[in-house]
Amino acid sequence: MGGVGRVYIVGAGPGDPELITVKGLRLLGNADVVLHDRLVAPELLRRVKPGAVVVDVGKRPGGAGPTQAEINEMLLKYAQLYDTVVRLHGGDPLVFGRGFEECEYLAARGVSCEFVPGVTSGFAAPARFYIPPVVRGTASSVALTTGREDPSKGLRQVDFRKLAAAVDTIVVYMGASSAAEIASELIAGGLPRDTPVAVVKSAYFPDEELRLLTLGELGPVPNPSIIVVGKVVERGVRLWETARRLS
Ligand code: SAH
Repeated sequence: MGGVGRVYIVGAGPGDPELITVKGLRLLGNADVVLHDRLVAPELLRRVKPGAVVVDVGKRPGGAGPTQAEINEMLLKYAQLYDTVVRLHGGDPLVFGRGFEECEYLAARGVSCEFVPGVTSGFAAPARFYIPPVVRGTASSVALTTGREDPSKGLRQVDFRKLAAAVDTIVVYMGASSAAEIASELIAGGLPRDTPVAVVKSAYFPDEELRLLTLGELGPVPNPSIIVVGKVVERGVRLWETARRLS
């Protein structure tokens, strides 16, 4: 071969190894190198071909693990050494992953990259309990938001007060430590304290957990969790309970 390899920035979906796309799975099986997140289903890594290099670049709780700059450098280095590199992200690589920045970094250095979308946890985790992001008659808009702030910004990046008035369903990623503060912002923005909330922890993993509460009751949540705020929670959980009785 000549020149550098190709980098595929692939979404693995959350938890359940069957939630990856057919294309993602095929690329994973062909990859010479796989750099993966921590929140990727371990079974998926068994689909890598024998002899492939597999590197865990995930952040541990507490922050240890390679920095984003180090991950970018690794991607570049492996692309210069091998034909096919897969960067496997939990969920979707472009939804609160760093897939876009990784591709920017590589493209600026002459390495081509391609995105393979994945099922994002913000939709998949609620769906586990039959909660739809939007559904006719109950919600026609949804916002995907982050609960984590970039300390360098100083300001809130997400204006939850405005969102409270603007969208029907609010999905919060990375809200573990800021959930209570987000709830009071949403209430200040006009959402009733009894607005239904679902907290879905570790969806599709063995330690999966659902908590149902109201916005007024929302406090710190376990990590990793998706928080869903809105009337869809009530309607979804009603269907989930019916479906459970039927199965
Ligand atoms: N790119 C990922 C999100 C990465 S940010 C995606 O599209 O899903 C990490 C956050 O995702 C976590 O803090 C949590 O809010 C959420 N998350 C990821 N996997 C999850 C899971 N299995 N269950 C619940 N939340 C999850």
